[in-house]
Amino acid sequence: MRLVEETPFRFRIDRHGDMRVPGVVFASRELLPPAGDGSLEQVANVAALPGIVGASYAMPDVHWGYGFPIGGVAATDARRGGVVSPGGVGFDISCGVRLLAADLDRRDFQRVREELMDQLGRAVPRGPGRGAVWDLPRREDLERLLRDGSRHAVDRGYGVPRDLDRCEDFGAVPDAEPEQVGERARERGLGQIGSLGSGNHFLEVQAVEQVHDARAAEEFGLHPDQVCVMVHCGSRGLGHQICTDHVRAMDRTMADRGITVPDRQLACAPVDSPEGRAYLGAMAAAANYARANRQVLGWAAGAALRRVTGRGLDLVYDISHNLAKLEEHEVGGQRRLLCVHRKGATRALPPGHPDLPRDLDAAGQPVLIPGSMGTASYVLTGVAGGDAFHSTCHGAGRRQSRHQAVRSVDAKVLRRDLERSGVAVRGGSARGLAEEAPTAYKDVDAVVAVAEGAGLCRRVARLVPLGVVKG
Ligand code: 5GP
Ligand code: MN
Ligand code: MN
Repeated sequence: MRLVEETPFRFRIDRHGDMRVPGVVFASRELLPPAGDGSLEQVANVAALPGIVGASYAMPDVHWGYGFPIGGVAATDARRGGVVSPGGVGFDISCGVRLLAADLDRRDFQRVREELMDQLGRAVPRGPGRGAVWDLPRREDLERLLRDGSRHAVDRGYGVPRDLDRCEDFGAVPDAEPEQVGERARERGLGQIGSLGSGNHFLEVQAVEQVHDARAAEEFGLHPDQVCVMVHCGSRGLGHQICTDHVRAMDRTMADRGITVPDRQLACAPVDSPEGRAYLGAMAAAANYARANRQVLGWAAGAALRRVTGRGLDLVYDISHNLAKLEEHEVGGQRRLLCVHRKGATRALPPGHPDLPRDLDAAGQPVLIPGSMGTASYVLTGVAGGDAFHSTCHGAGRRQSRHQAVRSVDAKVLRRDLERSGVAVRGGSARGLAEEAPTAYKDVDAVVAVAEGAGLCRRVARLVPLGVVKG
């Protein structure tokens, strides 16, 4: 793949083959994916989607994914034949991150560390199919969750109304169509409300180690040495089943519509078609489920903290990194309705954006970036004029595949090294821990430095891990 270095933080893939627009890769030379990883070929493949506008973008944490790369952003013209592709969202629809700030500092945590970690380990269902915080929900609760997301969870006592001001989309995306969610997806969803899922998902206790922007940090409710809880999880089996069902449905209609794509995993349908609308309605329902899932888990973490310390947890923000959204953007001097796919990429709204609550007007949207269980994580914010339709990275991004990581890491040694370096570990199978070893991920400090250098976001605070409950 030939790359043109435009700036130290931005590379271009010129149009070739079926590409309708160029590719843009935000990276430094050090962070560019290695040849053979396949993700830059995926950036070029995505550029061939009908109706794509601007460019096919890769964030600095880009790595190979299903169809689209993880760390990919692509927008299509929703009114002029642009397509929506489930591969541009991923199987874990609206997977995302929630950050809560504890009324506790680092020293207080050290005093209760073992007991609190045990309680958190018990309070948070994890692994495939081991129950959920909200057990025995009624069918009508599931219906309401699919439509109202975190709002319904709060209605049923899993949180307080203020939480909703600190959730992207105020806790629920509009236009969910629960009737597009199949029976199998519902069955899988019923038993998993308030559960982490597998190894890349986690609940982590962290401390604010460094503040880069004191004013924004204060507005987000963060200060040096403060203890925080970060939750990373998504829509579990329900979202996975929806992706599977709709990829299959779209795959059947592509030939009839005369749509060809360079990779079968890019199955897609026009935004304005029965299959496109059906997917978007089901996807929105899954997004609401994912948000409710994080709401319920955050509540469970708060209850555990209160039991052990008597202190509370306040929501800083909840943001998703796997979603397609209909958004208005100016393209070529015109306002256009775009379907913006962000897969392993995070929306980063600038100060004053109308979709933010007014009390975040000055600081902008909190953007939450997990690094790994042995390195830092970040809180960022959006900037005016943010590129790639106001998007940035979603994590450190994989350097090694899961398979490679398992071959090169001894889970017992990893667990011991983490504990020695001051990170308490709960849960996680040996295989799961090895797959998620810090060495399997890129350098998160370098990734966010490039994202900031490229003008996608600004750093607000750097957090370090104190304890992790692994999925
Ligand atoms: P993904 O959504 O792509 O599965 O993961 C997002 C990011 O989470 C990864 O790119 C990685 O940087 C980060 N991550 C994975 N496991 C952990 C963990 O245990 N703790 C933290 N803080 N970050 C993690
Ligand atoms: Mn996920
Ligand atoms: Mn995720």
